[in-house]
Amino acid sequence: MDTAVIDQDLVIINEAQYGVVIDLVYASSNNIAGRVVYQTARCALHKDAAPRLLRASELARSAGYTLKVFDGYRPPAAQKIFWLALPDAQYVADPLQGSHHSRGTAVDVTLLDEQGAELDMGTGFDAMEDASHHDYADLPAIVQKNRLLLLGIMLHAGFRGIKSEWWHYELPNSGAYPVIESTLVTV
Ligand SMILES: [Zn+2]
Repeated sequence: MDTAVIDQDLVIINEAQYGVVIDLVYASSNNIAGRVVYQTARCALHKDAAPRLLRASELARSAGYTLKVFDGYRPPAAQKIFWLALPDAQYVADPLQGSHHSRGTAVDVTLLDEQGAELDMGTGFDAMEDASHHDYADLPAIVQKNRLLLLGIMLHAGFRGIKSEWWHYELPNSGAYPVIESTLVTV
């Protein structure tokens, strides 16, 4: 696993410039680790991913929605904490392999309606269960519709989804990027 010791490839994502709402779940205790993980909470993405997030945000806004970001760049030390909390490779990347979040190329998102309420996606963010899977059939049509809306926006903006998590999107060639060590987000 290549590890970059520099973070010059990361760019800060801010709400005003990108037209998104940022709510970093790991900066609160409401997450799978059950405690605050990010002591310095900044939303950052790889410079190759940031323009795609902006494009996704513009697409969402054109349809009357706003993207809400739960997580972007994740330091490798945080990945180890999540792996210890839930050592299941279906939902949490093994730190030895490196999460695509630690490459800065993955982002966790949902959609807000015009009132600022999250669309019903059937499960909460980070719900590690079958109902989080994109193709889980036993969900109301409105949930499927909302997930497909998010999928369409993110695919059109140049991301790809993964089967097990409706909220997770990443650059299609994420595996080609090195894991990044950065103090932009500290644990
Ligand atoms: Zn993710």
